[in-house]
This record gives sequence, C-alpha cells and structure tokens, in this order.
Amino acid sequence: MSDKYDVIVIGAGPGGYVAAIKAAQLGLKAACVESWTSEDNKQVLGGTCLNVGCIPSKALLEISHKFEEANHGYEMQGIIAKDVKIDIAKMMERKSGIVKQLTGGIAGLFKANGVTSIHGHGKLLANRKVEVTDKDGQTKTYEADNVIIATGSKPIEIPPAPFDGEYIVDSEGALEFTEVPKRLGVIGAGVIGLELGSVWARLGSEVTVIEAQDTFLPTVDQQIAKDSFKQFQKQGLNIVMGARMTGAEIKRKLVNVSYEDSKGKQEAKFDKLIVAVGRRPYTDNALAEDSGVQMDERGFIFVDDNCKTEAPGVWAIGDVVRGPMLAHKASEEGVMVAERIAGHKPQVNYDCIPNVIYTAPEVAWVGKTEEQLKAEGEEYNVGTFPFAANGRAMAANSASGLVKIIADAKTDRILGFHVVGPQASEIVAQGVIAMEFGSSAEDLALTCFAHPTLSESVHEAALAVAGGAIHIANRRKKK
Ligand code: FAD
Ligand code: AMP
Repeated sequence: MSDKYDVIVIGAGPGGYVAAIKAAQLGLKAACVESWTSEDNKQVLGGTCLNVGCIPSKALLEISHKFEEANHGYEMQGIIAKDVKIDIAKMMERKSGIVKQLTGGIAGLFKANGVTSIHGHGKLLANRKVEVTDKDGQTKTYEADNVIIATGSKPIEIPPAPFDGEYIVDSEGALEFTEVPKRLGVIGAGVIGLELGSVWARLGSEVTVIEAQDTFLPTVDQQIAKDSFKQFQKQGLNIVMGARMTGAEIKRKLVNVSYEDSKGKQEAKFDKLIVAVGRRPYTDNALAEDSGVQMDERGFIFVDDNCKTEAPGVWAIGDVVRGPMLAHKASEEGVMVAERIAGHKPQVNYDCIPNVIYTAPEVAWVGKTEEQLKAEGEEYNVGTFPFAANGRAMAANSASGLVKIIADAKTDRILGFHVVGPQASEIVAQGVIAMEFGSSAEDLALTCFAHPTLSESVHEAALAVAGGAIHIANRRKKK
C-alpha cells in the first residue's frame, strides 16, 4: 500500500479517532498516528478522554457515589447496609477494565472502517508531510492531501507545586491513588478539581479545595453555581475561595501547602495534593518550524471557525485549538473537518455545546447565563423549577437543585438552559436539542412529558418562563 493518504490524523483522542473514522466512512483513505504506548509496548488509542479523563473519572465517580449512598442515603429509605466497605484495588481494577474495553473498541472500529493505525510520534513537516518516529526511534515519512492535528492537551504544572507523582499529583495521578488519603488538598475549583475532590471525599477523605478566584464557577450561571456551592459545602467539601496557593513542600510524608487569602498567609497539611489548575494545548515536537501552522500566545493552534489552520490542507481540532476543552466538542470538530475535506460544508454550532460537571448534584448547561445576557444588554425572561417539587426526584432521594430556562423576551427563543440536580448531564440534552432546533420556551411548555420523571422539571421551568408553572407558585420575572 502506498504511503500517500487523503487524510492523516495526528492523535487518536476523541477528536482524532472520530475524524479518522468519519473520513474513512466518506470514502477517503485515512490514517491515524498515535504515540501513546502501554507498559507492554502496545499502542493505546482513545487519548486523554478514554485513558485518563472522562471515562476513568466517571467510573470512579459512579462507584464512589454508590458507596456514599450506601453509607449515608440508605438508612432513611429503610435499607440496612451495615459495615459497607470500599476495596480500592477492586475499584481501580473495574475502572481499568472499562478503559481497556473502550480503547480496544477503537482499534476494532479502525479496522472495520479501514483506517490505518500508525504507532509512533507524528510531526508535521512542510507541504503536508508527516514524519513518524516509532518506539524504537525509526522514522518514516508519509504524505497526505490533508492533515488533521488532534494532539490534545496536558495538565498545567505550576512552579509553586511541581508534580512529584506521589504526593503532588495531576488529574492522572488522582485517578490512581492506592488508598484513600486522610487529608486531601485540591488546588483549583474547576470542573476537574471538583470532580476528583468529590470522588475521594465520598470515599472518606477530608477534602479542602483551594481556589484563587472569589467567584465560584464564574462561567456557570450564578444562581446555579451558588446552589451547587451550598450543596457541596453541605456534603463536607471544604471549598476555600479567594485563596491563591503560593507553595507546596513535602515534609515527613505530608504536603505542606501555603496559600494567601483575604486574611493573609495560611498553611495547610495534606497527605496528598491534586493540582488541577487547568490544561495546556499540547504540540510538543509535533510541528516543524516550516510547517506553516501558527499558534496564539497561549500555545493553541490558530484556526478559523471551520478548524482550518494557516497552512493549506492542514486542520486542527479539539483541545489543541480555542474553545472549551471537552471530548464532545473535539468529536464535533473531527466530524466537521472530515466532512469538509470530503467536500461538504457543515459547521459546528458552538452556541449549542453542553457543559457538565459530574458532581452530585451534577451541574449542566448549554447557552447563555443570566450574567452574560445582562452584560450584552439582552432582554429575557426566566423560568425556574426546583427538584424539591418533583415527585420522581423525591422518590429517588435526590430532590435538590433546579432547572432554569432563559428565553428571549421578544421572541421567546431559548437562550440558556441550566440544571443543577439529579441526572443534570442527561436532562441538559433536552435543552441542547431544543436550542439546536431553535425552539421557544413555549414549544417546550406545549410538549407532553412522561409522569413521574425528572424531566417534568424542564416542562415546569418552560411553563414558568411565561408565568404558567402548575406545580409551583409563579413569580414571573421580566428583565
Ligand atoms: P486528547 O484526548 O488529549 O488526545 C490527544 C492524543 O494525541 C493523545 O492520545 C496523545 O497521545 C496523542 N498525541 C499527542 N501528540 C502526538 C504526536 N505528536 N504524535 C502522535 N500522537 C500524539 N471532557 C468531557 O467532555 N467530559 C468529561 O467528563 C471530561 N472529563 C475529564 C476528566 C479528566 C480527569 C480530564 C483530564 C479531562 C476530562 N475531559 C472531559 C476533557 C477531555 O478528556 C478532553 O477534552 C478530550 O480528551 C480532548 O480530546 P482531543 O482529541 O482533543 O485530545
Ligand atoms: P479549570 O481551568 O476550569 O480547570 O480551573 C482551574 C482553576 O484553578 C481556576 O479556577 C483557577 O482560578 C484555579 N487556580 C489556578 N492557579 C491557582 C493557584 N495558584 N491557587 C489556587 N487556585 C488556582
């Protein structure tokens, strides 16, 4: 087989592997280069998401949630579960099993769709040539009409707290603890810090989250963020806001953390410290100087709305380009680019990308927040409905949080859809579909929802936008 391809993708995360499969489905000769190598020297597909991100973190969140429920939520429901214990080794074994099954599945999908999988480190040279260095240091150069860079991101390491892999760890290390740390520190109250902090708190750690900013979850609608903050505090997560970590020292098997808050210099001691202060785009040794690809000042590959770089025939997608660092955003871009290479003209609707924080309660949203709309001077109406008034949520012992729908005051078109509460990650899909179809709040209000379901809260929030909720007193709020 010739080494010339229609499309070569560098990186087999949810951006890259999806792009390669879609390209092959569209009749293009596609290859995907991935450097990740397992301990037994095999290629590992699936990227951050499947190996050290979305999937393993959700496996641990699910297991730890069950453990916590068994310990604290069963008795009041009449279930007697005495001496519930957690077997960390078994939990990790299950997590690894799920990861293995899914990553192995991608190899199968490549095969089924005719994608060539190339094991090695890819580097884009000039004129869409890709040099691949294999694990033995051998290089081979491939040519393509189109190259898609999907090299993803890596955790940010900050000078006051360098990772040592044992006491001070990144998100990957936090998925691998072999025992429950007694005192766990987390730097950064972002999505990853909150999710991983929740896992270990549920398993018994005393968790302190140190966050530099004064506003909790500043990109989340603040009514939702405040509600979730209260619930996390109630669960025992100690979240210290307005506190900037300035140093971390390992002394006598403890991490001594110094930070500054409004009261001055503070110190805290932890058995483990997770540093979750964000991720940086990853392009190390992936772009030759004459590749023609430009980067912005923060190291993201510069692309237009359709993920085209400055170099002809070279595209970039996922965490390595602007926009939210989310697996589904990467995959959407992967599909769009493959379609564009095949001559179609789809676009990603960046206004309809859902965000989820998989804590308990979950936080999920799509579209604009009230704060954004206020800043833009838009007129809008708001409808909210609390899960405390939802029968199914009560039956499930998870009657906290709310659904909030924001609609344009003139057209009633839904501009924002926000949920904090049970299964928010699933419920938000209704908002995404509604917004993708340009629905009004009235469209949702006129839709029949099964009873009893959590989704009835969506119906009620939509009714509440026009002051017509049935199961709660209406407080019509016109802005
Ligand atoms: P990646 O998944 O990072 O994949 C890039 C791949 O490229 C890697 O396999 C890498 O080895 C390979 N590579 C890099 N350079 C080269 C090279 N030069 N040659 C060959 N191969 C190369 N997102 C969600 O949407 N939902 C979640 O619940 C969620 N949870 C997360 C939890 C954690 C703990 C973390 C860390 C992340 C989470 N994310 C989540 C984010 C999500 O994992 C990323 O947004 C997603 O993986 C980005 O996909 P990508 O394809 O752009 O890059
Ligand atoms: P995210 O980018 O969503 O993963 O969130 C990372 C969080 O870490 C942000 O809210 C930052 O404000 C926070 N952060 C970054 N550096 C520090 C620091 N030195 N001390 C405390 N919090 C920090």
